[in-house]
Amino acid sequence: MEQGGAGRWSDAELHGALARVFGYTAFRPHQIEIVKGILGGHDSLSIMPTGGGKSLCFQLPSHLMDGVCVVISPLISLMKDQVDAACANGLRAAALNSSLSPGGHRAVREALASGELDLLYISPERLSAPGFWDALASWPVSFFAVDEAHCISQWGHDFRPDYLALSGLVERFPQCPVAAFTATATPEVERDILSRLGLREPRLIRASFDRPNLFYHVLPKEEPHAQLLSFLGGHEGESGIVYRSTRRKVEETAAFLQKKGVKAEAYHAGLPDAERMRVQEAFRRDECPVVVATVAFGMGIDKPDVRFVAHLDLPKNVEGYYQETGRAGRDGDPAHCLLLYSAADMAQLLYFARQTEDEEQRSIAEKHAYAMLEYAERNQCRRKALLSYFGEDFEEPNCGGCDVCTGEIQEEDYTIEAQKALSAMVRSGCRFGRVLIMDILMGADNRRIRETGFQHLPTYGVGKDRTRRFWKYLIDALTRQGLAAIEGEEYPYLRVTETGWETLRGAPFRALRIVETRARRNRAERDGASQDMDVDDTLFQLLRAERRRLAEAAQVPPYVVFHDRALREMAAGKPASREAMLGIAGVGERKLALYGDAFLAVIARYISEN
Ligand code: ADP
Ligand code: ZN
Repeated sequence: MEQGGAGRWSDAELHGALARVFGYTAFRPHQIEIVKGILGGHDSLSIMPTGGGKSLCFQLPSHLMDGVCVVISPLISLMKDQVDAACANGLRAAALNSSLSPGGHRAVREALASGELDLLYISPERLSAPGFWDALASWPVSFFAVDEAHCISQWGHDFRPDYLALSGLVERFPQCPVAAFTATATPEVERDILSRLGLREPRLIRASFDRPNLFYHVLPKEEPHAQLLSFLGGHEGESGIVYRSTRRKVEETAAFLQKKGVKAEAYHAGLPDAERMRVQEAFRRDECPVVVATVAFGMGIDKPDVRFVAHLDLPKNVEGYYQETGRAGRDGDPAHCLLLYSAADMAQLLYFARQTEDEEQRSIAEKHAYAMLEYAERNQCRRKALLSYFGEDFEEPNCGGCDVCTGEIQEEDYTIEAQKALSAMVRSGCRFGRVLIMDILMGADNRRIRETGFQHLPTYGVGKDRTRRFWKYLIDALTRQGLAAIEGEEYPYLRVTETGWETLRGAPFRALRIVETRARRNRAERDGASQDMDVDDTLFQLLRAERRRLAEAAQVPPYVVFHDRALREMAAGKPASREAMLGIAGVGERKLALYGDAFLAVIARYISEN
């Protein structure tokens, strides 16, 4: 009797198929459970983070079951990549969408009718096309996979009216299980997905949102361009995204990087479509490693080997920040997330929030801004803070993957320093901005000091033991933590607040101290991590060149051929036979047949020449 299990497939058989088709030795968390649910005929909703490995969950059963799995996916622009990636693993996949020629359409329909496809990707608007439901009913559908299922909910941030047509699936195809997938679902969205799709006793799978391979790093913003450049020094030749808050800043930063000889391109919604396409394509094909962008650069980037995401301005909210950083390291290899923030960023966020007419919206925007600042400012494990924001408890005392846990950032008692700075503000009448306050503290001798007579203040020169940079940071920290406020539109000045007065009267003030800016740590870490692998870098570069050649010939992005991880393993293990090649993660039977010999030849030639 079938006990709601995977029908006739044993665990060993599923592992066998995983290795044969995808070249992987182990399932990621929850994958096997989801696969078994589908094979057992159950409806399901799986909530997994980006990079969690959702596609494998429906691709594997599509290969094992008779008939075709119909995948509903919102982005036509991504379908080709998804189809290419599936085909590269030997799955029989195709897409039906408006970008196909009539001939292409016919070919796909014929393949469907004769049961020659494992996977059919369609966009939701297909379902509303005249006659499509009937056509669908005439094909041997095994099950439905609904990707980005949150698009069906008005509560979500990506609502697509076309998704509402999916509520007809269960009724029209009562015999087919429906497997829904999403990376973002609040409780409301989750309820919406279940009810709108009409799932029957669905299995709910909620994976942890933790992304263990991401390193989170947050720094006060001093010289964003210089800080970025030093950060990029640890990521030479690697793909990454630099987010900025405005189009103007995007242009500035991209121009700065280009001037410094970094291959970088700008991307924002103000650019012509063709230019945006060009940049996205160049990024995908590893021709342009760095994209400087507004948040408009997002949907549709499922490049697995993005090695860093840097935010040079404070994002509007934690959800957005998590999604953006989530674009790094989908392949599971270490990736690095940097956030720079300043009091001015915060002031700007609040300024924008307060422009909102609607009172409720305004208060939400303000709350978001404060939550973001709290994340940046608090001396708490970044991972723990992020996960708790999404309602998940992170129990480990040290995550080992953020600046706080690795001790790069520590809290320091700066009460005395705060008192000095605040008293410089008070003594000068709370009428001046940061520059003059720093001049007073540092005991500067310049025209403004002499004009104001501030060289006679008792606080004049009391901060000489510290650098100007320190005072800049400290005053920024005082404003961020609300001990001083920046006021005045035209000539901003610093006012000491009630909280500031408490510190003047002795209340302690603590702020994060930067122990070390180890922008290069990630590179070092990975070198360390691959030490047990002993990657031969020259060979690795040769393998990458071969991959680029093959990818160009096949007109697919390089990662469809092999991921970096697979190439690194080859450059370490130097496999010499097809069998040894199959031992490399990501090399299944199909890829072995397609590319195995080419890479074996590169390795053999390299060995004989050295
Ligand atoms: P998602 O759609 O959840 O963001 P993907 O399906 O794109 O994630 O998978 C992310 C990456 O993880 C892909 O490059 C995929 O090849 C890889 N992957 C998936 N499952 C496994 C596994 N069991 N072992 C190793 N890598 C995997
Ligand atoms: Zn941590």
